[in-house]
Amino acid sequence: MPACSLPVFHLMAKPGGSRCNLACQYCFYLRKGELYPGSRFRMSDEVLEEYIRQTIEAHCIPEVTFAWQGGEPTLMDRDFFEKAMVLQKKYCRPGMVIHNTIQTNGTLLDDRWCEFFRQNRFLVGISIDGPRELHDACRTDAAGRGSFDRVMQGLALLKKHRVDFNILCTVNAVNGDHPLEVYRFFRDETKAQFIQFIPVVERDPHSSTVTPLSVSPEQYGKFLTGVFDEWVQHDVGTIYVQHFDTALANWYGEPHGICVFSPACGSAMVIEHNGDIYSCDHFVDQDHLLGNILTVPLTELVNSERQRQFGRDKREKLPKYCQGCPVLFACRGECPKNRFTLTPDGEPGLNYLCEGYRMFFSHIDRPMKFMVKELTENRPPSNVMTYMTGKKTGAASFHKPGGKDPSYRFRR
Ligand code: SF4
Ligand code: SF4
Repeated sequence: MPACSLPVFHLMAKPGGSRCNLACQYCFYLRKGELYPGSRFRMSDEVLEEYIRQTIEAHCIPEVTFAWQGGEPTLMDRDFFEKAMVLQKKYCRPGMVIHNTIQTNGTLLDDRWCEFFRQNRFLVGISIDGPRELHDACRTDAAGRGSFDRVMQGLALLKKHRVDFNILCTVNAVNGDHPLEVYRFFRDETKAQFIQFIPVVERDPHSSTVTPLSVSPEQYGKFLTGVFDEWVQHDVGTIYVQHFDTALANWYGEPHGICVFSPACGSAMVIEHNGDIYSCDHFVDQDHLLGNILTVPLTELVNSERQRQFGRDKREKLPKYCQGCPVLFACRGECPKNRFTLTPDGEPGLNYLCEGYRMFFSHIDRPMKFMVKELTENRPPSNVMTYMTGKKTGAASFHKPGGKDPSYRFRR
């Protein structure tokens, strides 16, 4: 049995490194290939087995999730994933449940991939930025061709094979002005039930500003607010939006959900194709390389003082401005990666998206409080739809924050 003093952790695997068949214009991971000059970017059998063995052995809780990502993980052949399934069975302990999730751009999916996902009960995250013109504005291949048709074909195959899927949508300077168009497309066209929004915030390496495709703070605040207003009137209990689910948990006082809205971080690490472990997907660089699982046990890396300090830094380095903020309990200063602006009194370390979050979290306060009241009194939070619109709505199923709920689907 593993030492149970080990913090709960999650390891996102990049079996093919940053290799991808697309060249999305805002992608931050493509250039990570520069860390491994001359590499074939293919996880070896040895690394794969160590990754699976050590991850399972390091878990004293009965559920383990293997998250496959990239780059584009389906550039690895199915044989690789078949081997992974065999190894998971080999090392699985009695009573342990193993989940697999994969994040894909969807363009390489075919019937055989989808059969494999179905048979092995993968949860597939598919990256779509909205309807065609918004998606194709940024999600292109190296020749500049949009990928929308190929992605939608992949999504149709997932549905045909009844594979469980989530939508991951990056919010950028282009689709950021179209919250309703984007959300309604996911709800009405893709029929997605689980949606995750991720803001594109990339610093321009040649200046002190952000890249042109980065979403602006105000734009992001308006985007989240626009989606929320639609959701809270029509879709509570039927559509799960990661930000709203996490926000409700924070308002309810039982925080869970994504790391960016947690007080501390450091439990979502990355394993690169060669076994290198990094502190986080957003900190895959030399300064945050913890070690390699072929030479240092994974438990040691997860438990290292360096990684623990990385996690604590999120709270300890919060500027004073955040400490006095009325929505700190929901925002937590968001991701340290985005903390590169100055507070109004000149203190460094304020989150670039601050203005947007203040707008969004203040805006949702009233309906959140209503939903918390309903939950506390054992009524479905979906009653908020009647409260917001004055119209009667059908009862929707509900879960209490912190229980067995859909948030595991969004774990980073
Ligand atoms: S650095 Fe950001 S993305 Fe990484 S674990 Fe912390 S909050 Fe999450
Ligand atoms: S909204 Fe702004 S001030 Fe408040 S916690 Fe978030 S980043 Fe800090």
